[in-house]
Amino acid sequence: MRGLIRARDVQALRELGGKGPVVSLYLNVTPPRPFKSELRSLIHRKRERLRAAGLDKGLLRQIEDTLRTLEEYVEGLRPPERTRLLVVFAAPGGLRREFHLPVALPSRLYVDPDPYIRPLTALLDQFDRYCVVLVDRRRARVFDMYLGEMEEDVGAMESETPGWISEGEGKGARGTAVGTGPWAGWRESKIQRHIADHVHRHFKEVAALLLRHFRSRGFDRLIVGGPEGAEGKVVPPFLDHLHSYLRERLAGVFPGEVDLPMDEIKRRALEVAARHERREEEALIERLLSEAHRERGLGVLGLNDVVLALMMSQVHTLILEHEYRERGWVCPRDHHLSLAPGRCPLCDGELEEVEDFVDEVVEEAIEQGAEVEHVFTEHQGFREWRIGAILRFRVYG
Ligand SMILES: [Zn+2]
Repeated sequence: MRGLIRARDVQALRELGGKGPVVSLYLNVTPPRPFKSELRSLIHRKRERLRAAGLDKGLLRQIEDTLRTLEEYVEGLRPPERTRLLVVFAAPGGLRREFHLPVALPSRLYVDPDPYIRPLTALLDQFDRYCVVLVDRRRARVFDMYLGEMEEDVGAMESETPGWISEGEGKGARGTAVGTGPWAGWRESKIQRHIADHVHRHFKEVAALLLRHFRSRGFDRLIVGGPEGAEGKVVPPFLDHLHSYLRERLAGVFPGEVDLPMDEIKRRALEVAARHERREEEALIERLLSEAHRERGLGVLGLNDVVLALMMSQVHTLILEHEYRERGWVCPRDHHLSLAPGRCPLCDGELEEVEDFVDEVVEEAIEQGAEVEHVFTEHQGFREWRIGAILRFRVYG
């Protein structure tokens, strides 16, 4: 599946379950990883384990077929742009769902009666879903925007408003009927009131449409665009018509005519979203730093302290630069994490060195039910640490 990832797509995944074995693939495709050969060895190891498990022959054949289809599919795949993690769910009968994410996890392959969606939803939860509305005095267009993709899905609307409203409205400057004759003043004010009523009604209808959209699909943030030129500013009066639920979700506004090409609307909306996300990141990092610097505060900074906190199940929110990579050591049996080689304190087995240790840290945090926030822009004060965590509690002594 390409394009926008929607809540309903993730919901639909649950329906893959219960009908046969589902293969869930999390494949780290961050360049320059040789992800195709990594998948081949994942599948090879999985096959051996399944055969050794003594599964029912029919079931085993179903799984084998699904794995083969998945392997062929990935073999033919070009590394998707701006994607670090490819998530594919495959079920017998060629049923397949695919997600592209800009943040990574270690490559894993699961075979289970149900799709393994928790890592996916945990990663998706950190990205805001935007609703973008472009509105003028007669028309409106509504878009969904998520992870840099935009679709005009909700549709456009045009209110029944006389054509002359868009020109010189409110100024009484147009048309002989308005400007001349003994009744000119009266006519003018009446027309103006008529126009104001129409605009008011139109704004109300658009606001109601947005509220319905919010209630049926849900979105996290709203971005509003509108013309700023001769027609006067449209956005501020429109904002007054929004339900308070939506007003408090406003991420920002931008100037633009309703009939702008899609690419241009997307570019302007993405700019607003980027500014909004940067502000959110700043607030989060601010909170992390103040917790970390406060005596007995609930914050730790740097990979070493984060790993220690994680091994004590203390992490509430993991915060990290999205391109942070570091090597480290992992127990392949129970996922004990360490920054130094040695033996696992849980099973006494040899720890294995991994190149993308930070991805293992993210996976472990998700497994523990922690929230994960990837930081996409550079922040003074966090640059030297690159990773940190807000804790649920602190262990003393
Ligand atoms: Zn171990």
